[in-house]
Amino acid sequence: PAFRWSNGITEKEKTLAIIKPDGLYGNYTENIKKAILDSGFTILKEMTIQLDDDAAMGFYAEHSSKGFFSSLVKYMTSGPVLIMVLEKENAVADWRTLIGPTDASTAKITHPHSIRAMCGMTLEKNCVHGSDSFQSAEREIAFFFDEKSSDRVVIGHDEL
Ligand code: UDP
Repeated sequence: PAFRWSNGITEKEKTLAIIKPDGLYGNYTENIKKAILDSGFTILKEMTIQLDDDAAMGFYAEHSSKGFFSSLVKYMTSGPVLIMVLEKENAVADWRTLIGPTDASTAKITHPHSIRAMCGMTLEKNCVHGSDSFQSAEREIAFFFDEKSSDRVVIGHDEL
């Protein structure tokens, strides 16, 4: 469906992608961006930030009661992350397909061409995030980005 910003402007479907600390640290950014662009996404916005505990806990609030929560927060704050808004028809589902299953060690066997197979290691250290539904995408994009021109970058094949 069309994406609705907080100021009411509607645009093509969007999703939130994050290259997690292991992805940045392992120098996978270029390969991940190539896969994104080759799959027809436009990178609409991007920023590299260091999450603190509050930000990581807020972002993953739905998992706060899970046994893996504190380890997940430690992982997500272990170094900078690259956060991107991706735009495309069917962006949410297509980005989930491209990243592959949550457990990167499974992905290496069942989805060898997925991004998590390429750069992830384990169930936790799976190198990338993707919103799991349109509703999650709206919440997660609003968590990190305002609709204001100053933080907008547009990267697509035309610009490369
Ligand atoms: N995760 C974990 N242990 C688990 C499940 C998830 O460490 O048993 C981590 C993993 O990094 C995952 C994140 O928590 O990407 C969020 O989990 P979710 O189930 O939402 O998976 P995703 O939507 O990222 O595939």
